[in-house]
Amino acid sequence: MTTTLLTGIGSLVTNDPEIGEGPLGLITDAALVIEDDHIAWAGPAGRAPGTDTVSDVGGRAVVPGFVDSHAHLVFGGDRTQEFNARMSGRAYSAGGIRTTVAATRAATDEELSATVARYLAEALRQGTTTMETKSGYGLTTHDESRALRIASGHTDEVTYLGAHIVAPELAEDPAAYVELVTGEMLDACAPYAKWIDVFCEKGAFDGDQARAILTAGRAKGLVPRIHANQLSYGPGVQLGVELDAASADHCTHLTDADVDALAQGGTVATLLPGAEFSTRAQWPDARRLLDAGATVALSTDCNPGSSFTSSMPFCVALAVRDMGMTPDEAVWSATAGGARALRRTDVGRLSPGARADLAVLDAPSHVHLAYRPGVPLVIGVWRAGERVAG
Ligand SMILES: [Zn+2]
Repeated sequence: MTTTLLTGIGSLVTNDPEIGEGPLGLITDAALVIEDDHIAWAGPAGRAPGTDTVSDVGGRAVVPGFVDSHAHLVFGGDRTQEFNARMSGRAYSAGGIRTTVAATRAATDEELSATVARYLAEALRQGTTTMETKSGYGLTTHDESRALRIASGHTDEVTYLGAHIVAPELAEDPAAYVELVTGEMLDACAPYAKWIDVFCEKGAFDGDQARAILTAGRAKGLVPRIHANQLSYGPGVQLGVELDAASADHCTHLTDADVDALAQGGTVATLLPGAEFSTRAQWPDARRLLDAGATVALSTDCNPGSSFTSSMPFCVALAVRDMGMTPDEAVWSATAGGARALRRTDVGRLSPGARADLAVLDAPSHVHLAYRPGVPLVIGVWRAGERVAG
């Protein structure tokens, strides 16, 4: 057993209201004791116990490592031209996700694995110590199970999203595709995944199809999550709450009944401002959800089409600037909120027993994540008690 004292922390976000101030459990002039892979103690630096080694962060802020609960990292190719056309006001008609499906199928295992590793490392340098990733660009039994097998070699949080869109080969027969996704493809994918997800949206899967898909996944031991109410009003959010999905993701177009369902149910509302930013779409109204009492998470939605950012600090800044969140709320949602969305209690907080996952900011306070947008403030990252970046 080795113990390290991380001291000289100007401002520490613990996300544990029992040991610090407010919902963030804030402690000023703080210290942490890291014992092997977990936090053994957190409190005022003056009361810290003795340890084997000491590391002083010079008055900087420390926050829990970001928990990014929604990303699509198993993909081939990129969509620079589509983004450029969209941002240049030119109509773009070729089929978005389908472009990535073709490139993903054409990629080798090694290429896909290198892509996942690359973006996980990119996110880690920006303070993300837990990151979920989905399949969804294979859309055949072989390509979906391949994507999940590759993803599971890099992260524990793996989601089967065979129901991203109907596979191009079955575009004329969506019922046959739902049968595949809930049958042979599910059997091949379930061993590699923890979660099942569906894109419930006009042009993707309707409420009945989404229900069939999530129910089939649940019967195979996968826990539901859902892409819901992103582009239009629809049944996704309420279906997610009804099926006790861990998270309903996007939540941009919500009725009062949707907001009530999220506030009363156990499903986290995960907001993905990178998607609205990258498509110049309407922002989700975080304020409305928070005021109603819903639990809100923030995530990147990192994918090559609609949100090619791996930066949680960027999402925090957008959420504060454009979605009505306070800096405290946004930082909570990017850490503890993400942990809730992944039903994890070992990450997203810095109190005794938690995994020692943290980011050191070159700033005196977590508020600077929103106050200084676009600035690479994360200068040190620890995961499971080891310094992994900075
Ligand atoms: Zn997504």
